[in-house]
Amino acid sequence: MLEIKHISKRFGDVIACDRLNFTIEVGEFFSLVGTSGCGKTTLLRMISGLDYPDEGDILLDGKSLLNESTEHRPFHTVFQNYALFPHLNVANNIAFPLRMKAKSKEFIQRRVSEVLELVELTDKSAHFPNTLSGGQRQRVALGRAIADLPRVLLLDEPLAALDAKLREQMQIQLIRLQKDLAITFIFVTHSQVEALSLSHRIAVMNQGQIEQLDVPEHIYAYPKNRFVADFIGHCALLEATVTAIGDSHLELSTSHVGNVKTSLNPAAKVGQRGWLALRPEQLHIGTAGSLSEYANRITGKIFDFLYIGDVTTYIVELADGTHIEALLANSMPGRIHFFDTGANVELAWSTEVGCFLYD
Ligand code: ATP
Repeated sequence: MLEIKHISKRFGDVIACDRLNFTIEVGEFFSLVGTSGCGKTTLLRMISGLDYPDEGDILLDGKSLLNESTEHRPFHTVFQNYALFPHLNVANNIAFPLRMKAKSKEFIQRRVSEVLELVELTDKSAHFPNTLSGGQRQRVALGRAIADLPRVLLLDEPLAALDAKLREQMQIQLIRLQKDLAITFIFVTHSQVEALSLSHRIAVMNQGQIEQLDVPEHIYAYPKNRFVADFIGHCALLEATVTAIGDSHLELSTSHVGNVKTSLNPAAKVGQRGWLALRPEQLHIGTAGSLSEYANRITGKIFDFLYIGDVTTYIVELADGTHIEALLANSMPGRIHFFDTGANVELAWSTEVGCFLYD
């Protein structure tokens, strides 16, 4: 429905977007994630019409948007800083785009009360922005952006200014709103956790290019390369060389964890050098010798641990000084950790987990 066709944008020597080429479907919650400066906002600005690409085209339902001004594109943007009109109360902020479109008084009244209900601000309709909390202001901004039912809602780090608890509440509201309205959401965020939990698909960007575009569970479980593995979720990346290719697994030689067996990578070749990627929740941790049923095992000492309530993250130091993180669920109430700093432990994992990356 929205086609980004070979779009590029340069600022002097910087290539902010480099031949981006993908399609966003109707009603999709699509997220753009990546490190600071990778080109997310530039892409959003080109979609909204605030910037013009040097090359390529942007099509909506097969029709180029490049000659349409921002106001004529059926899109709205929600920014991090809310950008509300301070002299208008909540209801009038939400009514603003409808008034601009010269809708009837009755229509505006009905639509504003529907939107107030959707963003759960009916009781605040007469309040002014300076009397609202951050989360409430962001809900007004969202309400204003959806009032005239745009085809696409562009969200540029809309939750970045909110504290953790509010952020979580707003994430749930965003998912609900997107489902109810069936509007396409294009969501820019620094937070890979937010992208994983909200999106139908995620594009991971790096230096103006898309490294991987896929559904969250694939991006997390099958990162295409080292950058994606490292950027999305926690991951140990250990240098490795492929020594053999079995029917169901690869054999790798590593300097940190010895010889290991890991899941197949169809593109891997014997002798290829790359990295073994292991996520903390894929690793089992136990006292030395207690995990003999697993094909891959390595001993180490607890370097440190971090209690996060439901789980504890252990940082295990291997004999060569390498640090690897492993998670253990705290299923017993009142118990903060099972192992003390300095304790001898074993890390173990099965051949199905972990992956070999060579790029
Ligand atoms: P952040 O997450 O920090 O907001 P981003 O991924 O949104 O970053 P962009 O704002 O799109 O990144 O910037 C991409 C690159 O283009 C950066 O190197 C930035 O410095 C550069 N850039 C963006 N806008 C301009 C501009 N108007 N003039 C010059 N350079 C620009």
